[in-house]
Amino acid sequence: MYEKLYDENAYAVEFLSDVMSCKEVSWENEDVFEFVLEKTSFFPEQGGQTSDTGMFYDTDSENEFEVFHAYIKDDTVYHLARLAEKPVVETRRKKKIEDEVPQKIEVIPPKRVIGRINWDERFDKMQQHSGEHLVSGTVHRLYGYDNVGFSLSSDNVTLDFNGKFTDEDILEIEKTVNRAVFENFKVKVYFPDEQELKKIDYRSKKELTGRVRLVEFPGYDICACCAPHVASTGEIGLIKIVSAEHFKGGTRMSIKCGYRALNEYRSLLDSARGISRLLSVTIDEVLPATEKLKADLQDSRFKLNGYMEKTLCYAFISAVESADRDHNNPIMFTDTLDPGVIRKAINSVTDRTNGYSGVFYKSEKEGYGFIIASIAKDCTVLFAALKEAFETKGGGNKTMIQGNVAADEAQLKELLKEYSNGVFL
Ligand SMILES: [Zn+2]
Repeated sequence: MYEKLYDENAYAVEFLSDVMSCKEVSWENEDVFEFVLEKTSFFPEQGGQTSDTGMFYDTDSENEFEVFHAYIKDDTVYHLARLAEKPVVETRRKKKIEDEVPQKIEVIPPKRVIGRINWDERFDKMQQHSGEHLVSGTVHRLYGYDNVGFSLSSDNVTLDFNGKFTDEDILEIEKTVNRAVFENFKVKVYFPDEQELKKIDYRSKKELTGRVRLVEFPGYDICACCAPHVASTGEIGLIKIVSAEHFKGGTRMSIKCGYRALNEYRSLLDSARGISRLLSVTIDEVLPATEKLKADLQDSRFKLNGYMEKTLCYAFISAVESADRDHNNPIMFTDTLDPGVIRKAINSVTDRTNGYSGVFYKSEKEGYGFIIASIAKDCTVLFAALKEAFETKGGGNKTMIQGNVAADEAQLKELLKEYSNGVFL
């Protein structure tokens, strides 16, 4: 009989099985082997959880296969595998038809294999999945919300709930589920008969028929589930709710359990240490020190803008006052400046000249940002000229135009000469 070892024993890392079938199939444009075994420990992708990976070792040859994916169809687990790159015995090479054709290695399908799942990956998923049951069961018990979506991959765990939480709720859930971990009680996995099942109040995303596998965290949760779980709650390790965001009228929660939580803690601590070193404060003082730094920066920027505005106005006014109104159309090229500052400076000279006054400033995008004003000339004429000559975005009216232009200083000056007989600053 076909046997799913992962149903009964989540810790069956290695197993021996007859091979029911092994054939070459095409998977995402690659020729791979598809195995069906008499029994397997490989948990196939299902219920939001990605599959186990691991190895098959042919007992009659030295051929080894890397199992990279497993899926279930009509209650049969299909394992997809590649021949591992190592010297192969018991294989025969097809005669080369032409020298330039790559040799194809013909593999004799194994009759029996030793299977070995990647235990680190499996245990990591067991920690996350068991943690998820504790969180979902606790949410259901305390707030009455259902888990309506679940995804578990090698780097991400998300839980969707049909309700919203306050920050206090999240703290309460976290405290409750971690208490379950510290209590370190046994997790029960069983298949109740139909009569027993009717009496049990369990969570399930869908109406189930046939043999139902229940996973019970006594006092916290009972849920229908097909995945491998830890034997006792202490193995889950720390359960941390990393985020809880509004999603489709409910909440999408992201959690990290066990080693993942430990790795996250380590990485966050490294970041905090780095920031504390940069600010020369202790880790506890990082937040207030950063807030102060931000306030100081805003203050400095405000002061700097004031100085820049004065300098810009001074440069404009001196240019305008050194000759008559018609021949002084100051246009400045400069590094990045605050557009607000530029606008104020331009406004201070527009009524002193009959030409264009403006600033081209290096923008974050390619080329220049610009603000140009005039009380006597039509700014839209200049905008049209810019647009015709270069890739130009923006707009405005007769008295002021603003935008971005993809051109360099020399190109712009060449064009501006036709429209402005003034000075470049
Ligand atoms: Zn589950």
